[in-house]
Amino acid sequence: MSDYDFDLFVIGGGSGGVRAARLAAGLGKRVAIAEEYRFGGTCVIRGCVPKKLFVYASQFPEHFEDAAGYGWHVGERRFSWPDLIAAKDKEIGRLEGLYRKGLENAGAEILESRAEIIGPHRLRLNASGQEVTAEKILIAVGGAPNPHPEMPGSELCISSNEAFHLEELPKSIAITGGGYIAVEFANIFNGLGVETTLIYRGPEILRGFDMDMRTNLREAMEKKGIRVVCRDTILDVSQAADGRLKAETKQGHVFNVDKVMMALGRLPNTKSLGLESIGVETDAKGAIVVDDYSRTNVDYVYALGDVTDRVQLTPVAIHEAMCFIETEYKDNPTKPDHDLIATAVFSQPEIGTVGLPEDVAAERYDELEVYLAKFRPMKATLSGRDEKTVMKLIVNAADRKVVGAHILGHEAGEMAQLIGVALKGGCTKDDFDRTMAVHPTATEELVTMYAPSYRLKNGERA
Ligand code: FAD
Repeated sequence: MSDYDFDLFVIGGGSGGVRAARLAAGLGKRVAIAEEYRFGGTCVIRGCVPKKLFVYASQFPEHFEDAAGYGWHVGERRFSWPDLIAAKDKEIGRLEGLYRKGLENAGAEILESRAEIIGPHRLRLNASGQEVTAEKILIAVGGAPNPHPEMPGSELCISSNEAFHLEELPKSIAITGGGYIAVEFANIFNGLGVETTLIYRGPEILRGFDMDMRTNLREAMEKKGIRVVCRDTILDVSQAADGRLKAETKQGHVFNVDKVMMALGRLPNTKSLGLESIGVETDAKGAIVVDDYSRTNVDYVYALGDVTDRVQLTPVAIHEAMCFIETEYKDNPTKPDHDLIATAVFSQPEIGTVGLPEDVAAERYDELEVYLAKFRPMKATLSGRDEKTVMKLIVNAADRKVVGAHILGHEAGEMAQLIGVALKGGCTKDDFDRTMAVHPTATEELVTMYAPSYRLKNGERA
């Protein structure tokens, strides 16, 4: 047994930290895990989970409307924001309890405190002032919304953190940002009846996603009544006497709204963590620099999840934690695999995607076949809803491998999970072609697009 108080000290009780602590403790290691806010971290407490519950809540008005086409006449409708918040909080409390229980059952010591590194192998718990030592330190402190303090009036704005706890639902909101968090919240608020404006400085929302998904989603959002303002940015927010906010933009727009939400990226939680006391290297953004095995430049310090700014997603943080355990405690060096990560945007309609967007694939491969289908989903026929599903496969002509699959439509996130398995397995377009369709579904389109919609040679349409 080592002379340290713990074999492993994990800072941060989120997706990555909890998984690593639980597995290491399960292997008989003496593990402590410190969490300064609530166990479960961003994903469970103020990220993926409450967000998805809000998405469900915001979809009901359309369900009620669509019901009429199927002969159902829905009576009086009334929405209670406080009821939604209370139900959401109850569920989050339940999940938090499960996370703690998992740690307890595995034998990890739970420390409800902020932890900071104060010297080699040494940490301080802020709640008690206690100092402890550990043979290895794992940093899994995640990130937080970028508050942009340089913008006048930024202190008047909310971030996704506060959006989960608003005392009342605003009548109007301006959201600035074009990433998935901004887009998802624009759809949530709009669905709940809030007059919603999305302001993004780029030419099109959702940079990094396939352009057909980006433009078709933006058009769908506009049809639902969301005002999307691209190539613009909020410069100044001020408060009027009646408490409402005035947001002025670079292009000269003025939005008078109840709330302004900033969703302009996230910053790693490395401030005042004591990294400099032992010389842990960070990049210009403050993210911890790690090698392929989540090792920092200090031999007993490791980092994973959002704080390393690799791919900021819950399953990635969990996967990195599992690889850390394999490498450090099971004598099985395992690099996290960041290739072909299937992911979703829980917009309305959703985007589900895996692999390369067309523009990136066109740079990487000499010749591509692109299969593209845009159609009205079956449910929209009787409901009369004006909406489209879009499906796209990108195929490397040289070996017929499907290198990108992109879906915009209902349950596209669920579809992305399954098609992710196919791409990870290296499926070719021929494998798709010889797969029998499931009828009638939307997804059958993915195995019945027999002829390419167009080809690209050296990035140009052939
Ligand atoms: P976190 O889960 O952020 O956990 C870090 C923990 O460390 C926090 O609980 C924090 O309080 C604690 N901490 C920080 N500093 C200290 C300290 N010094 N001492 C003690 N504790 C400390 N991902 C998806 O895959 N799908 C989604 O749909 C999705 N939706 C999201 C929606 C929103 C609004 C947000 C903000 C994020 C979303 N994410 C989603 C991203 C996902 O939440 C993160 O990628 C994931 O939580 C990262 O896990 P982590 O372990 O690195 O950090």
